[in-house]
Amino acid sequence: MTRKLNIIGGGMAGSEAAWQAAQAGVEVVIHEMRPRIGTFAHRTGNLAEMVCSNSFRSDDDEQNAVGLLHWEMRQAGGLVMEVADAHRLPAGGALAVDRDPFAEAVTERLRSHPKITVQDAEISEIPSEGHWIVATGPLTSGALAEAIRAETGADQLAFFDAIAPIVHHDSIDMSRAWMQSRYDKGETEAERTAYLNCPMDRETYEAFIDALLAADKAEFHEGETANYFDGCLPIEVMAERGRETLRHGPMKPRGLTDPHNPDVKPHAVVQLRRDNALGTLYNIVGFQTKMKYGAQAAVFRTIPGLEEARFARLGGIHRNTFINSPTLLDDQLRLRSRPNVRFAGQITGVEGYVESAAMGLLAGRLAVSEITGQATAPVPPTTAMGALVTHITGGADAKTFQPMNVNFGLFPPVDLKGGRRNRPARYKAYTDRAKADWTSWLAGKALTDAA
Ligand SMILES: Cc1cc2nc3c(=O)[nH]c(=O)nc-3n(C[C@H](O)[C@H](O)[C@H](O)COP(=O)(O)OP(=O)(O)OC[C@H]3O[C@@H](n4cnc5c(N)ncnc54)[C@H](O)[C@@H]3O)c2cc1C
Repeated sequence: MTRKLNIIGGGMAGSEAAWQAAQAGVEVVIHEMRPRIGTFAHRTGNLAEMVCSNSFRSDDDEQNAVGLLHWEMRQAGGLVMEVADAHRLPAGGALAVDRDPFAEAVTERLRSHPKITVQDAEISEIPSEGHWIVATGPLTSGALAEAIRAETGADQLAFFDAIAPIVHHDSIDMSRAWMQSRYDKGETEAERTAYLNCPMDRETYEAFIDALLAADKAEFHEGETANYFDGCLPIEVMAERGRETLRHGPMKPRGLTDPHNPDVKPHAVVQLRRDNALGTLYNIVGFQTKMKYGAQAAVFRTIPGLEEARFARLGGIHRNTFINSPTLLDDQLRLRSRPNVRFAGQITGVEGYVESAAMGLLAGRLAVSEITGQATAPVPPTTAMGALVTHITGGADAKTFQPMNVNFGLFPPVDLKGGRRNRPARYKAYTDRAKADWTSWLAGKALTDAA
């Protein structure tokens, strides 16, 4: 078997995957279509170009999951983090990056690496031989997207994300909310109580519609077509079509009885559905939105039961090519139907520069293990890297799969209850556990608590 690794796409994920493999002594070819073929968001021919904000978000590795992911990538000798640190800009607790010198430096490090070749070419087929990583990102070229669609099936590849907000379960007030499926439908008790319901009286509903209509909305990027299809209209667009539209759509109250107030029929009901196997995250059903983030948090906290909600991620609708990873990929990020091909980066259904680079780091290392014939233990789900890859390759519900940022809701819970006041201790417990397990995994040691 050849000891060469081919990587399609030299963005955040492809650059990091290439670095990891080359540093381990494997020959790498990066196939990058820019500058010959551009996208609506990229401006240059540089590798690892940041297409929008220049932030890698929080750098707090004790209290924040993305900060922890930074830490894990630094420990693994990650190029993206090393260069980001070298081109850091002042931004409080966040890691902001001077974008052009950053991308130029990543490009220079990769192009001058003796094990790496960069070919300026678009790849438009899924290769059937050799070791490959597809890291073509949210703006994968049309020809390759078509080839992926042909391989995986039309309903397994999305061109837009339509993300409903996701709430941490332990921040929902269950003295207001209750568990019930509409008309108690379902064969088992778990199915009959699959939904978490938040009731609204008429006054709260009317105020909610006013807030939706008044909220600041984000525009689509230039070149990003805003063709909504009716199945995923933003809630504010539904509200614009008529004040009652939501009450006949995702907020309809029919078939539901509030056990806290059984004699009063709710005027409207907001439903949440479990978002991960751990049961730590719930998405608000049908609430995809283009409201700006600040407005979303304020509007959604007017929903009874969500007054103190913490959001694992807020909603959005973007141009975004991604596959249904829980169905298509194994836990080594390999395409089940063609195990010689791995996927990495945003196309796997993670979201953000850091998460995309992290999946590149992992895919690069897993490919090296395979090419060199060394076994690698599964990444512990207690680490940020492991929590993310476990989520996209199986923890998430395949039917409602949408791109995800790293957050503590993806981690197996730590045994430290105590609400908001205890949160710093809880987050510290998550990050301490992750650091110990990541260090062991990198050292190739047997893991006791990762099973
Ligand atoms: C408009 C927009 C704004 C965004 N804003 C942010 C933000 O502010 N913050 C944030 O964290 N994330 C943001 N993202 C998400 C961001 O793109 C990803 O987080 C990150 O860049 C994805 O990394 P990646 O390596 O998966 O893809 P990319 O970095 O996009 O890299 C993919 C590479 O593959 C190349 N390519 C595509 N198809 C082919 C092909 N067939 N053959 C060869 N090469 C190919 C592309 O040219 C590109 O260089 C945004 C995304 C978009 C689309």
